[in-house]
Amino acid sequence: MFANKNQNTNSQATKKIDRFILHYYNKQGDNGENMTSPAINNGLTLIATPIGNLRDVTFRAIDALMQADQILCEDTRVSRKLLNHYNINTKLTSYHEYNATSLRPKIIRALQQGEKIALISDAGTPNISDPGYKLVESCLANDIEVSTIPGPTAVVAALSISGLPTDNFYFGGFLPSKTTARKKTFASLRTLDTTLIFYESPARLVACLYDSLEYFAGRTAVIARELTKLHEDVRRAEISELYNFYKGITRVRGEIVFLISPPQKEASYLSHDQIKKLLKERFADETLKDAVRNLAREHDISRSLVYKLALEMKDV
Ligand code: SAM
Repeated sequence: MFANKNQNTNSQATKKIDRFILHYYNKQGDNGENMTSPAINNGLTLIATPIGNLRDVTFRAIDALMQADQILCEDTRVSRKLLNHYNINTKLTSYHEYNATSLRPKIIRALQQGEKIALISDAGTPNISDPGYKLVESCLANDIEVSTIPGPTAVVAALSISGLPTDNFYFGGFLPSKTTARKKTFASLRTLDTTLIFYESPARLVACLYDSLEYFAGRTAVIARELTKLHEDVRRAEISELYNFYKGITRVRGEIVFLISPPQKEASYLSHDQIKKLLKERFADETLKDAVRNLAREHDISRSLVYKLALEMKDV
């Protein structure tokens, strides 16, 4: 984990915030008011942690990490850095795909005996392309309370600054590592009218962009790399431009979110001839401007395309 490029840890503002945090954890505010933090919930608590910048952690996350009887994490070495940064001494237990099946019954027993257990991952929100699903499922099946302490997740961080439509989106997690499977995934999503989001490894980025050209040529895509870290880099361009750019880089590094814009509205279910026919009917009692606007709205197609076709008709 790295400091953010914009983070000046010596600034006056940062020092002021640090003083506030210190007061908070001394349980006393500037005016002596009681700032005792609320207790962690019973049962299992999923706690989001930073995706890079260690300061992207919530007060509730720190409260709960301090108060948990134990914290389940993926790699204790990674999580120890976060805990050391905030002087948290809670016991860490490694819970990952290789020991999850054998460990889960013990965790459930501990929870049934009243332990308050936190689940975190190496970065971001646990259970989002990370371990947790089966544990949550087992807790619910055993009537054990499951709570969330929300915070960072790379998928939402990348989407929010992508410049692509955010009203709805499809998150595909990690793309398959093999070309055939990856292409199958792309083929199945080609006509989905929404922003597509994937996690991708830097070693596969160029191959992935190359494969995506076959299905999404002409669309805008975004590569959000190393978000909140020292070398944060977000590139927005047409897919072929991104492919040409990354092909020229000897070794792409860092953590990556890959986003693809929805299909162009021009790829509508109406042919140009059908649009012209509908326009002709409207011209009987609507102005050109109204006909274009209304038809585009009713059929959810690009207004500029309808306008272009309307002008072609007038030329005839
Ligand atoms: N649970 C995490 C979350 O909530 O985002 C995701 C864990 S998944 C194992 C790790 C992947 O998330 C990385 O390979 C990358 O695709 C994405 N990721 C995590 N941190 C990132 C960052 N700082 N910038 C860009 N992508 C990131």
